[in-house]
Amino acid sequence: MSTFLNPKRTVAELKELRALTDDKNGAQRVAFTPVWVKTRAWLRSKLEALPVETHVDEAGNLWSTLRGESEKCLLIGGHMDSVPNGGWLDGCLNVLAGVEILRRLNAQYHGKPPVTVRLVDWADEEGARFGKSLFGSSACSGNLDMNEARGLVDKQGIKLPDALKNVGIDFERVKDSGKELKNAAAYIELHIEQGPVLLDLDLPLGAVLGTFGVERHAITFHGQAAHSGSTPMNRRKDAFLAAAKMSPEIYQIAARSGNGVCTIGSCTTKPGIVTSVVEECRITLDQRHLDSKKLATMLAEAKAASEKFAKEGNVRVSWERLWQIAPRPFNDDLIALCDESIRETCGKVHRLPSGPLHDAAEVAAAGVPTVMMFVQSLHGISHNKIEDTKEEHLELCVTAFDKLAEKTMTWLRKGVKTN
Ligand SMILES: [Zn+2]
Repeated sequence: MSTFLNPKRTVAELKELRALTDDKNGAQRVAFTPVWVKTRAWLRSKLEALPVETHVDEAGNLWSTLRGESEKCLLIGGHMDSVPNGGWLDGCLNVLAGVEILRRLNAQYHGKPPVTVRLVDWADEEGARFGKSLFGSSACSGNLDMNEARGLVDKQGIKLPDALKNVGIDFERVKDSGKELKNAAAYIELHIEQGPVLLDLDLPLGAVLGTFGVERHAITFHGQAAHSGSTPMNRRKDAFLAAAKMSPEIYQIAARSGNGVCTIGSCTTKPGIVTSVVEECRITLDQRHLDSKKLATMLAEAKAASEKFAKEGNVRVSWERLWQIAPRPFNDDLIALCDESIRETCGKVHRLPSGPLHDAAEVAAAGVPTVMMFVQSLHGISHNKIEDTKEEHLELCVTAFDKLAEKTMTWLRKGVKTN
């Protein structure tokens, strides 16, 4: 198959896209903007050279289908949209690797691969403008909360339904895109890691086990304001002291959980003046784990700790859930195939969970067997113009991802049931 695959062409096309859609601050392919529309037109020009059917669904997702001998579909996904001042690889690497795989399949199987292969460019994965990620894929999976999305506004005060109307999308019909998942039998997605794990292990590629579940809460400690000069230390009801004890505690909770992560991302105090003991301290806690039981344990431990610290400090504590999502473990067979594809390509593999959410999480939630492959990110950074990956690693990831596509087709032909 390698005679038909040209990973160097993917790297050249990524550079071509960068020249077309980046400015001095980075990628500007924000969904539903003129640059994004231009990006889509450019993508279509690449697909036109192939015998594929291309259309945009009700949610604005672009689908390009190479019909195969079976109606069963292998889906390959990514997103051309970026955050403002974003990196040159996030999302579009996946799509352009998919285009190269379509070319290889077309050449090798004379326009008719064993199963139908569909490339999808999800609309507005980043949620940069309206603050809601995974728009197109969550509409397709059926998980999009219509009432919440209907009320979203951007910084200019433009409502999401109006912004969609400008690019020809009827908001009230976006969930009709769910019909695209008919016959979907497997979903694979390549992505830059966006973190430092593969970099620290000095490995180019990793097989992704799933996306983390998330528990996001606000924790408020209620004490008593008192004069900072006249109140002896042993008489204080210091809300900040109790909250501050949570900081080292969450590191221990995360360590006990295995691979979980915990973050206190904000802290506000009232009255918030230099001459008063803190009356009220509100912190936010974000906890993530791939295992739902361990995630529940991390949350329970944080709650117990907050109550203990509140009692010690003679203050009160209250919790408010801000957001939550369940972990989305990927398909075991596909993880094994991903692992195998990477080992055949570069000898060594590492299995890792994904901290960030991806469109793959929505497809997995819809019941389609799913896996992702990660390629090393230099600096362990994304959503920034310095986001980068070594060119040799970009070429390796296209090769390994193509192997995964071929192995997945073989797996599908062996008769795995569709959902
Ligand atoms: Zn992405």
